[in-house]
Formats: sequence, structure tokens, C-alpha cells
Amino acid sequence: MEKILYLAHTDSNGQLPRIALEVLSAAQKLSKDLAGSTLMAGLIGGDVKSAADQIAGSGAVKIFGVSGADFNESRYATDAKAAEALAKAAGATIVIAPGTSRFARALPGLAFRLKGSIDTHVSGIAVNGAQLDIQRWYYRQRMVATLTRAARPWVLLVDSGAFPACAGAKGSANVEAVAVTLTDADKRTKVTGVQAPSADAQTIRPDAELLFVAGAGWTKKQSDGQIHGKDAEKIILDFLKTSKASLGSSKSLVDLGAEGEAVLSFISHLNQVGQTGATPRHPKGLATCCHGEEPHVVGWRFISERRAINTDANCGWAQGKADVLYVADAFAVMRKVNELLAKA
Ligand SMILES: Cc1cc2nc3c(=O)[nH]c(=O)nc-3n(C[C@H](O)[C@H](O)[C@H](O)COP(=O)(O)OP(=O)(O)OC[C@H]3O[C@@H](n4cnc5c(N)ncnc54)[C@H](O)[C@@H]3O)c2cc1C
Repeated sequence: MEKILYLAHTDSNGQLPRIALEVLSAAQKLSKDLAGSTLMAGLIGGDVKSAADQIAGSGAVKIFGVSGADFNESRYATDAKAAEALAKAAGATIVIAPGTSRFARALPGLAFRLKGSIDTHVSGIAVNGAQLDIQRWYYRQRMVATLTRAARPWVLLVDSGAFPACAGAKGSANVEAVAVTLTDADKRTKVTGVQAPSADAQTIRPDAELLFVAGAGWTKKQSDGQIHGKDAEKIILDFLKTSKASLGSSKSLVDLGAEGEAVLSFISHLNQVGQTGATPRHPKGLATCCHGEEPHVVGWRFISERRAINTDANCGWAQGKADVLYVADAFAVMRKVNELLAKA
């Protein structure tokens, strides 16, 4: 009989981040489908009480917690120790946890300490009789594999966007405190501050409804023989501000900056979508001034509804890669869209 431990850490507000609530619904599904299994929760953070209250109605039979100032920040040594203590307290055979950067660093160490196995970037789970199968993508999301393991404990780090966020009832939870003894060496790494762009400058928004992709065409000579970089910047920023879309980019646009050419100032390599970039998950996508070549479009694997604006009716998007292609000048279309959004 499997003992499932849902493991999560709090965010800077002491709450569970969205991805943790997504993984909670995966854990609930797993526990429902695996006959005779038990679901428990383990929380790590400065103070885990309000996170525990968030999941009070989750169906977890016990909520264990490791808390205290030393567990407030992300740090490999303390996180791995806390996770180990929680997994042992629960006697877990399966640990299912959100694939945050904090856990991506610490949980491979947990699997090692437990003499178990770990799989990262899990994007699907299915129970086949008494067997647990997981899914993950390989080769830049070109191939999906279904696999299982006999090894226990089995640690699963789940990607965001693969499960709906659990909207379970909140309540007042009972947290069973688990003690962890730390040495000075465990606390050697100190978080001295966080450097993050201001909310407006933050253009990558994983939770956005829409992915807006800007391609190199925005910086190319237009029909009047001129480049309109400043106009492009204003149009795109105005659109992002009102739509709250996430900003993606093609490789060509990102590379122009590296080559010292005029490029949109707010785009960096982090925005790049594609084979050598990111594979974001959003319900909708709109590509503008982007040709839609395969190495770029492979990054659209998890974009459900796809639209593109291109002056070229024979661009890649027209070759079955988009649901709708607007053969039009993206400057004109997006100006009009911004005008309509401003009135809305
Ligand atoms: C190994 C390898 C890995 C790669 N990895 C990636 C990757 O991860 N991501 C990625 O994006 N690319 C990747 N590429 C590059 C990819 O093949 C393309 O070169 C790149 O995506 C092209 O970018 P683009 O469409 O923005 O630019 P371009 O090909 O220059 O296209 C610009 C488009 O803008 C259109 N346009 C111009 N003006 C307007 C206007 N006013 N209105 C509407 N449309 C307009 C043009 O018609 C044109 O189609 C990779 C290539 C290789 C070889």
C-alpha cells in the first residue's frame, strides 16, 4: 500500500504558490486512483500554519510541518534535511512535489538520502491497476514517454501547468511539527537579498491566459523602407500592460541584441521560445512578426489555440502551425487592438 507524501514549501508570504496547489490536485488524484493508498502532506517554511490552513480540506490524513526562520528561504542543505525528516515521519513510498527552482535543487538530494529514485519534469500521472505510470517529455518536448519504477521511495517533481490548481476548502489545520537539527555548516549559505524586476518590467508571466510572441520582423525595415523600433516598443508594451499577456520572443530577435543591432530593450534571452528556448504553457498564443519556423514552433507544444500575424501569406504559420493566420501588418493590427483595449 503506497504512502503518498504531498510535499510543498511556502512562498515569501507564507502561502502555497499556485504550482503547489496544482500538484496538490495531482496528489489527490493519485491517492484516489491508487487503491488503499494514504495521502499525507509535508510543509516547509518560516511558518507553515497558514499554508496548512489552505490545504485543510485536501483529504490529507496528516499534515507534517518543518518550520522556523532557518526554513524561510531556499537553501539546499536545510531544505534537503527538512524534506528528509518529513518523508521519514510520513514513511512515504511516493513523494510528490512542485517542480519549483527551490525543490529542483533540493529534492534530488532527498532521493539520494532516502536511497530512492527521482523523476523531474513530470507532466502526467496515470494509475494502471496497482501500477503508477508517469509521463514526461524528452528531446525538447518532441517525444513523450510513459514510465514506471519499482524503486521506492519514488520522488516526483511535477511541472507547472499540467494540473488544475486545487480549490479545496480552507479550514483550521492541525500541523504535526517535525524537528530537524541543523548544524552551523547547514546554515553556511545565506540569502542576502532578492533581485527581481518590478512588476511592470516583468514580462514573463507563466499564469497569463495569452502568450504574445514578438519576432524579428518588428525590427526590420517596413514598407516605407524605414525601421520603426521605438513604435514597436510602444505598441508591444502598451499591449502587454493592458492584456497582461506573457511576452515570448523568437531566437532571431534575441540574437539581434547580442549582435549589437537595435532590438526591443525589454527582451532578453529568457523570453526566447523554441528548441533552444522555453516551452511555456498558456491557453492561447499570438505570434507577431515571427516567421513560424519549426525550431521556434516546437516551443509552442503546450499552447492550445494559436494565432499569428504576418505580412507573408506563405510564412511557417500558414503551413498548418496556426489555427488562424492574419495576413496583415502587425504594426497596424496591434495599434488597432490597443485602441480597442483602451476603450474596453
Ligand atoms: C539549432 C537551432 C535552434 C534554434 N532554436 C530556436 C529557438 O529556440 N527559438 C527560435 O525562435 N528560433 C530558433 N532557431 C531559429 C529559427 O530557425 C528561426 O531562424 C527564427 O525563429 C526566426 O525568427 P523570426 O521568425 O523572428 O525572424 P525572421 O525569420 O526574420 O522572420 C521575421 C518575420 O516577420 C515578418 N514581418 C516583418 N514585418 C512584419 C509586419 N509589419 N507585420 C507582420 N509580419 C512582419 C516577416 O514576413 C517574417 O516572416 C533555431 C535554429 C537552429 C538552427
